[in-house]
Amino acid sequence: MTTTSDSETSDPPTDHQTPHPSGELMTWRALQLQCPRCGEGRLYRSFFRMEKRCQNCRLRFDRGPGYYLGAVYVNYGITSLLVTAAFVAGRFWLRIPSSQLLGPLLAFCLLFPLLIFRHARAIWLSMDCRLDPAVLNETEDSPLES
Ligand SMILES: [Zn+2]
Repeated sequence: MTTTSDSETSDPPTDHQTPHPSGELMTWRALQLQCPRCGEGRLYRSFFRMEKRCQNCRLRFDRGPGYYLGAVYVNYGITSLLVTAAFVAGRFWLRIPSSQLLGPLLAFCLLFPLLIFRHARAIWLSMDCRLDPAVLNETEDSPLES
């Protein structure tokens, strides 16, 4: 009887024998700012500069103009959820007046998206890999899809 490690591969191998990590694994790799396909390459060269390709598996991170616009929605969604939760907790659980919550929450709304923009982009890339597995099959010579 043979056992296989299903934590890395949830789909059958492709023509290129590219591993297809599970969605949860790709999300975990995104939170660590690692390549969603191999988990080895770093997404960022520096705080603001993204690598053009994975240094390990050569998955293209630079996916064309406007690709990462969806990351803005990821960022907005996370920020909105946290601000709403903080407001509800502060107002109704801690009984802090709304006027005292406004300043700190406004500052949070301005600063927090700047701090998580890298993770929002990584999550967006992992979501794309999850929803369009063809991205995982790309080779170094694959053209960008329009
Ligand atoms: Zn990689």
